[in-house]
Amino acid sequence: MKILVINSGSSSIKFQLIDMENLDVLAKGLVERIGISGSKLSYYKKGKTDVIEQPIKDHKEGINLIISYLIDPYEGVIKDKSEISAVGHRVVHAGEKYSGTVILNKDVIDALKACIPLAPLHNPPNIIGIEASMDILTGIPMAGTFDTAFHHTIPEKAYIYPIPYKYYRKYRIRRYGFHGTSHFYVAKEGAKKLGKDLEELKIITCHLGNGSSITAIKNGKSIDTSMGFTPLEGLVMGTRCGDIDPSIPMFLQKNEEIDYKEIDRILNKMSGLQGISEVSSDIRDVEKRAESGDNQAQLAIEILAYRIKKYIGSYVAAMNGVDLIIFTAGIGENDCLVRKMVLEDMEFLGIHFDSIANDKAIRKYGVISTSDSKITVMVIPTNEELEIAKQTLKVVLNEEK
Ligand code: ADP
Repeated sequence: MKILVINSGSSSIKFQLIDMENLDVLAKGLVERIGISGSKLSYYKKGKTDVIEQPIKDHKEGINLIISYLIDPYEGVIKDKSEISAVGHRVVHAGEKYSGTVILNKDVIDALKACIPLAPLHNPPNIIGIEASMDILTGIPMAGTFDTAFHHTIPEKAYIYPIPYKYYRKYRIRRYGFHGTSHFYVAKEGAKKLGKDLEELKIITCHLGNGSSITAIKNGKSIDTSMGFTPLEGLVMGTRCGDIDPSIPMFLQKNEEIDYKEIDRILNKMSGLQGISEVSSDIRDVEKRAESGDNQAQLAIEILAYRIKKYIGSYVAAMNGVDLIIFTAGIGENDCLVRKMVLEDMEFLGIHFDSIANDKAIRKYGVISTSDSKITVMVIPTNEELEIAKQTLKVVLNEEK
């Protein structure tokens, strides 16, 4: 069976066609700049990438272009679109409704539309991608995998905010958590590598990318996570501030005489690594600048690492211990310096850091704690697309029974 995974953003569509017999990625790629100048498809197949530049008016044209390449007699990997057994869509927000991957139908799509106020930037393009695929790939089953779903098990004491309860009742203001597919995938992989059941472990997963979050997973279930009502809460990110005193936005609004839209822009687009360093949102640029003696750049990295360290400490307390800590995503998989800054001086917790192994574990699996460390620390490359494909296959097969 072949599963097409689609991650549809506001002006982009990422895709992968995966053969579920051997988990081989037959083709993958990215449509970018939809509806604006310079739109293109990057199409990757077995070691070769083609870039096709052409106007792509909307998501439907984007998906049509992807399909036409997948079935192209020369560049394609399948003869006909009917070879696609199912399509798995990534959807950011499913509110409180769904705790796992579900078959997409009108009712589910309506429920996802009802979540738009909770994820105004993410859900609309996700839904546009779903509707465009349904038009083009008629009759092929489609499933939705939600970033919020894995965090459904978080208990009330961790998801209710200490503001008047009526706002939870009225607006469903609560912690939802994101990156769930990635946290779940790396936790399962980590348990496999340890040779243990996920259900018997306490795990902390650090998904550190442009957006970052950290999750406490006890007996296979998410019990707390750093992102909250929106992906703004928690760790220091590329351009997002993460946790701050909630009175700062009000202070700025008053003293800078700016409106809520500007506050939103400052906290989401101008803060984090970018805001502190005044260099870049990409940690590679910030580290380069820090190496050349720039104190503000150095401070940005220290704040980012210190915040991760504090979250690890608090999740160890929340779970009464931890067996395994996992680093993943762009920074987690590649950045030895950040991992070192987080993990050093944690011996009291039972973390013994192996700095040589740390330097070697770049973009690949590695154990970066010493063999006598009570707590194992791993680097595990995430693979959200594969997890979406696996979950899609499961619900489609269930549906067929
Ligand atoms: P997203 O959250 O957009 O999915 P990724 O998980 O791909 O992002 O992470 C992107 C970030 O990872 C970049 O902004 C950069 O800070 C960091 N990153 C990527 N490659 C490296 C690398 N080789 N070394 C250090 N950091 C890296």
